[in-house]
Amino acid sequence: MTWSTIQSHHIVEQFWRNAGVRCPDDNGPLKLKLRTLQGGDYELHAECPVCGKSKEFRRGDDPQRRLFRRWTADEIRSLDRATRELRSSPCPVCSAQVQRYPMSCLSILRCIRCGNSDQWLQLDSRIEGAGVADAPLVQPRTLARARFSVVESR
Ligand SMILES: [Zn+2]
Ligand SMILES: [Zn+2]
Repeated sequence: MTWSTIQSHHIVEQFWRNAGVRCPDDNGPLKLKLRTLQGGDYELHAECPVCGKSKEFRRGDDPQRRLFRRWTADEIRSLDRATRELRSSPCPVCSAQVQRYPMSCLSILRCIRCGNSDQWLQLDSRIEGAGVADAPLVQPRTLARARFSVVESR
């Protein structure tokens, strides 16, 4: 037994709104674990301590999946400014928090929910028509002030 599609959509939506996510059946506080996967997708594991139901969600399970599109150059510029001051800023596409991930010599902007990254802009000049599935592999070292645990796959 696990949650229905409608219940699953609710769980994914609540998670990305940074709200306390509760089991749709018994209101139990869900245990959540977010893992980023190679290739740019993620895996969100949810488990209810009350009824024992659990499920893994991917970006394809997101109720807003159809609305996802790539950031425009203007959006990247304003996110870049905002995250320099506040460290995180709401994504203009999916409204999840976009964070700045420090890399060795540069920092990158990345939205785990909709898969956007400012690296695409630089990639675009060389690769035509790169889509969500072709997002470059990015390995953030730290997730500043994240409210959930993130495990990087290797
Ligand atoms: Zn439950
Ligand atoms: Zn987003």
